[in-house]
Amino acid sequence: MENESPYYRHTKIIATLGPSTESADRVTELIRAGVDVVRLNMAHGSVDWVGEVVGRIRQVSAQLDRHVAVMMDVKGPEIRTGAVAAPLPLEVGSLLEFRSGASPLQEQNAAWGNSGSVASVSVNYPDLARDVTVGATVLVDSGLLRMRVVDKDTDSIRCEVLTPGELGSRRHINLPGVEVNLPSLTEKDRTDLQAGVKAGIDFVALSFVRRAKDIRVLRQLLDEFGSPARIVAKIEECSGVDHMDQIIREADAVMVARGDLGIEIDYQRLPLVQTKLVRACQAEGKPVIIATHLLESMIHSPMPTRAEISDVSNAVREGADAVMLSGETTTGKYPLESVEVLKQIIESIEPSVDGALNSGMKLREPKAKMLRSAAVLAQDLGDSGIIVFTRSGFLAYVLGALRPRGVPIYAFTDVESTFRQLLLPWGVEPFMMSFSDDPEQTIRDAIACLRRKGWCRTGTWLVAITNVIAGEQVIDSMQLRQVE
Ligand code: PEP
Repeated sequence: MENESPYYRHTKIIATLGPSTESADRVTELIRAGVDVVRLNMAHGSVDWVGEVVGRIRQVSAQLDRHVAVMMDVKGPEIRTGAVAAPLPLEVGSLLEFRSGASPLQEQNAAWGNSGSVASVSVNYPDLARDVTVGATVLVDSGLLRMRVVDKDTDSIRCEVLTPGELGSRRHINLPGVEVNLPSLTEKDRTDLQAGVKAGIDFVALSFVRRAKDIRVLRQLLDEFGSPARIVAKIEECSGVDHMDQIIREADAVMVARGDLGIEIDYQRLPLVQTKLVRACQAEGKPVIIATHLLESMIHSPMPTRAEISDVSNAVREGADAVMLSGETTTGKYPLESVEVLKQIIESIEPSVDGALNSGMKLREPKAKMLRSAAVLAQDLGDSGIIVFTRSGFLAYVLGALRPRGVPIYAFTDVESTFRQLLLPWGVEPFMMSFSDDPEQTIRDAIACLRRKGWCRTGTWLVAITNVIAGEQVIDSMQLRQVE
């Protein structure tokens, strides 16, 4: 790499693993293609699968000497209809009753029936009739079936069908604007998490986060399990949007989960809410992921649509930390091509984005303020990088959030979990390395490592955030080094 400078990509790529990509060969190809974080979607995964695939990912990473973080996306509290013996055809104007009396266990076996002349189906949410009002909208099957509540009693609601379709078994229900009164973690989530922690997951994405306390509940459980996993709050319903500031402060990162969010809020507001979430995360210095439908057409086609190219470009321009693939890499026919397309778009768009640092970020600690000076200096120098030594990851997370475009952030750590967790934030390239008691030796080791791996060359400027020992004192410092 002495003579060529490969493009340094700041925006990270997350790929969801599934039947199209879970084999060892495909995992190898995904990692080689440049995926930074692998997501396990527990809406479809079992505990046995988790152990198996995490082991496979770690083995492949070790062979390739290129590591990825693993994010377990727990299913969360989802409202679903019960089982039906056969798909139930629904015409515009017809009525459908949702019975909320059944417990989740009974609901497994419940068949739809007729309540008088009205078709009736069970729902696993006991407070349904209490929480929805007559006139409210009920969306079934990811918004495909739209209904309006016309009548209710203590444990059932009756809806008029507004869009025609078929109701299958166990369909997801969205109640736009209703803050659902369900625990933030289900029994399945807890079992999945236990298996994930055992397998060594790096992130947990929590679905349907409504308030900051949902994050605290998960954090406490992870502490009980002794897991250092970081928490990604999925914002996918109105209550999560309403409480975004508190949620962002409590979480370690945020996912703009546009699949459900695009159903829960009016679709024309989705880009506005996305921008608001990205800005709010940047103000707090928390990584933000843009998820769902980025390259949806590539599930079946080797080329993205023009609109998808624009959508990904917009996420890159807004300064998202990561873009995420779901169906494209779980069941899609072109998973590797999808990763390649994301990479191409990112590499095309990033250099065109204004290099101004993130000025909206609240820097509370003096050391964090010093990082802003380091970023300004490195950008001014050109052909430069920033070196940071971190055990918790904090300094590297702050540096990434400052968005020093064109400047790689080399984060050295001796903590394995921190190393992998630094694969998510924008612009950070983490390295595992033991630290010497002598700060000067640690800097020399870091520069030698960068040189060996081809990340810098003679003449490259490196701004190092480090400690110097002055007598009895350890002093925070910023140093300028030129690679020899
Ligand atoms: C989403 O709704 O956009 C999302 C990422 O969540 P899930 O895939 O769990 O529906």
